[in-house]
Amino acid sequence: MKIEYDIIVVGAGPAGSMAARFAAEKGVSVLMLEKDRDVGYPVRCGEAISKAGVEEFISSDEKWITAHINKFSLNSPDGSEAVVEFNDAGYVLERRIFDYELAKTAANAGAEILTRAYVNGLLIENDKVCGVKYEYRGEQKELKAKIVIGADGVESRIGRWAGLKTHIHFKDMECCAQVTASNIKIDSDTLYFYFGQQYAPGGYFWVFPKGKNIANIGLGVSGMVGKKRSALSYLNNFMDNNYPAAPVLTSIAGGVPSTVTLKKISSPGIMLVGDAARQVNPLSGGGIASGMIGGSIAGRIAGEAVKMNKLDHILTYDKAWHERLGKRHETFERIKNGIYNFSDEKFNKISHSFNKIPKDKRTLGRLFTTALINQPSLLVDIAKVFVI
Ligand SMILES: Cc1cc2nc3c(=O)[nH]c(=O)nc-3n(C[C@H](O)[C@H](O)[C@H](O)COP(=O)(O)OP(=O)(O)OC[C@H]3O[C@@H](n4cnc5c(N)ncnc54)[C@H](O)[C@@H]3O)c2cc1C
Repeated sequence: MKIEYDIIVVGAGPAGSMAARFAAEKGVSVLMLEKDRDVGYPVRCGEAISKAGVEEFISSDEKWITAHINKFSLNSPDGSEAVVEFNDAGYVLERRIFDYELAKTAANAGAEILTRAYVNGLLIENDKVCGVKYEYRGEQKELKAKIVIGADGVESRIGRWAGLKTHIHFKDMECCAQVTASNIKIDSDTLYFYFGQQYAPGGYFWVFPKGKNIANIGLGVSGMVGKKRSALSYLNNFMDNNYPAAPVLTSIAGGVPSTVTLKKISSPGIMLVGDAARQVNPLSGGGIASGMIGGSIAGRIAGEAVKMNKLDHILTYDKAWHERLGKRHETFERIKNGIYNFSDEKFNKISHSFNKIPKDKRTLGRLFTTALINQPSLLVDIAKVFVI
């Protein structure tokens, strides 16, 4: 190991690995520190992602694909189902392998990786971040860097330590619970979503196939709902009603910051990426693809800043992210606030109207149009999503 690095990335999730890779590709020295023993484990994720989201960064590989997705099944409170078909829409991943492969792409680009390295503070001089403090195998250490990239996930502390405002309102933190269970007989190419008060008020419930009759089954509810009744209790209810005898292989809980990106995601010596920057798509709660995009932009800009010996260049990251996805997430958030507040009756009505459309015309666009008839004020926001 070197005694000083150009760039240190904290956290080896999808966002961190892409930041490390895109920085290393600029020919600067990069170290990625991960607190866990293994990159990619433990997994706290439903593991669904679009094909386009993956292929911007890595070629699809059966080694980490557990299901190929061609259909969405949207289920309303009265049991009616609206099915939307997409060919080759995306995948359910085996993130344990996927995250590992992403980290390998960073290593192949020249980044060094150190696991079991728990970052517990920042080095700050003259109000500028200039390195990290970390614990490795029981020893407290320090390492200097020109730029630190915080990719430390939803529970991130790097931003706060650097003086950035990372506070998130309780209502915007989706409380999630999920099991991976076997003996679940569902179509292996379909993502199932359930809406309504009984499943997930202010959020949605999902059943995502993982091949061989295995599925990720879980839900997210707004923090305000979670305060009154836990996500786990909704999950237990669903399992008791639908899969009472299904063996549960893993059980997880976690938060998803379903809101717009933090106002400031860079300041002298520091950049934030992925969940740490709140780069999750607020409508879907998906953060793998958007985290990789955020990581890649930050890594590229950080690498350029070092190469040009112009460290202030990192401050252009906020604008670059906003133009690529941040602006779009603001619109998604408004749509989320509209859709997730629909009453059960509204979800039922949308599903019934949608199912009257001839089968070969049931596209996502038609589904949105049907939703709009029920909530015309969403029109402007939805139109923006498609034209921006
Ligand atoms: C229940 C649930 C279901 C989800 N389902 C989906 C889904 O289906 N599709 C989707 O796209 N997204 C989903 N998400 C969101 C997705 O998991 C995250 O958005 C994504 O993992 C964010 O990537 P990241 O790299 O920012 O953070 P993470 O993947 O969380 O990685 C952060 C890394 O930083 C490390 N770290 C943290 N602190 C330190 C420290 N102090 N020192 C060193 N290392 C540290 C952690 O160990 C971890 O490896 C889901 C989330 C939850 C909770």
